Amino acid sequence: MKRLEDEPLLAIARAEGPWLIGTDGRRYLDAVSSWWVNLFGHGHPHIKAAIADQLDTLDHVMLAGCTHEPVVRLSERLGALTGLGHAFYASDGASATEIALKMSAHFWRNAGRAEKCEFVGLAGGYHGETVGALSVTDIPLFREAYAPLLRLSAALPSPDTRQALPGEDALACARRCAAALEAYLEAHHARTAALILEPLVQCAAGFGLHDPEYLRLARALCRRFEVHLICDEIAVGFGRSGTLFAHQQVSGCLPDFLCLSKGLTGGTLPLSVVLTTDAVYGAFYDDRASRGFLHSHSYTGNPLACRAALAVLDLFETGLDGVPVLERNRATAARLTALAEPIARHPRVSDARQLGMLWAFDIGDPPPGFSARYHLAARDEGLLLRPIGNTLYFMPPYVLDEAALAHLAGGALRALERALA
Ligand SMILES: *Cc1c(COP(=O)(O)O)cnc(C)c1O
Repeated sequence: MKRLEDEPLLAIARAEGPWLIGTDGRRYLDAVSSWWVNLFGHGHPHIKAAIADQLDTLDHVMLAGCTHEPVVRLSERLGALTGLGHAFYASDGASATEIALKMSAHFWRNAGRAEKCEFVGLAGGYHGETVGALSVTDIPLFREAYAPLLRLSAALPSPDTRQALPGEDALACARRCAAALEAYLEAHHARTAALILEPLVQCAAGFGLHDPEYLRLARALCRRFEVHLICDEIAVGFGRSGTLFAHQQVSGCLPDFLCLSKGLTGGTLPLSVVLTTDAVYGAFYDDRASRGFLHSHSYTGNPLACRAALAVLDLFETGLDGVPVLERNRATAARLTALAEPIARHPRVSDARQLGMLWAFDIGDPPPGFSARYHLAARDEGLLLRPIGNTLYFMPPYVLDEAALAHLAGGALRALERALA
């Protein structure tokens, strides 16, 4: 709160497409997709129409003992897209993590292996900040104050390519970290319920990318040691990584649990979902209530949010301006990468990287308070950008035209010069 003295809140009155419009009438390009949730710009007519139509039909009904068409259709469509045919809904990403952790441990209990109740994650992993989710999150700043409340879980070496050893390439780094996972599971599999990770990109850790080989090996190791694999695609799902889901870049990689949120409703309404397998579903199919998955949220499967999500899936099916979304994104990404060349080549920038529709640049030896300085300089340039520590990143909506791309690349470079001055 005290920081607001130097960094006053940005009051936003309206938004259209990728633009936020301040109460003072100034326009800001939403280059972080309002914390990674927005896909198709603000106020997309198809998503808006779906929500409005649903509001006229059924605003909400509880999902205990009741059902409704939007939640059934959404579950079926997500099942068809992922091969995971069972869905459990909540309202935010952290709750999805909680559900996956609880469901995994309860699965093993129902299987007569109650001692399998520990979790393992990766160094720098981020899975949300409720107490259970924070237990598997490895960001010291977020954990410190709450450490006594958390259940310790192991954080294994992250395959983040920036942490490769001298002489090691991304593939070798992935293999070394997978060997560490193997050693851990060898020793601890009897007590380990699940491995949770963010496939291909650890966003909150400062956009650490890793080679898909790690995911391929982790999937195989989890199968070998009878440990669930939870893929947290809350940030990287829905095309952000270049494929609809990041884990789909590894052929045959099917997680036991897939957590989705953020882009699920295109950044309009809070909704999350955990998708899982027939095997997990089967373990809870029982007459005894104690063997059922006892977890409920008041707004679970809210019809308005489900309709927004269905509209998002429609857009992936129909494309934008007649071009399939992922194909259109490849062209947009190539253009922004070209326009951002001067940032990538800047003498203070290292590890310029891009995957799908995200870009990141590490700033060497930045002045104190760089992140806040940059944020304010970017505001002056008409950009909403918030570096994570020393990492400047772009995670824009998918609907940037040439002018918006040039505005982003040009403004981000000028803001960098000012923040470093
Ligand atoms: C944002 C995020 C979460 C938490 O989602 P919330 O809706 O903010 O609770 C969990 N995992 C990842 C990878 C995220 O990026």
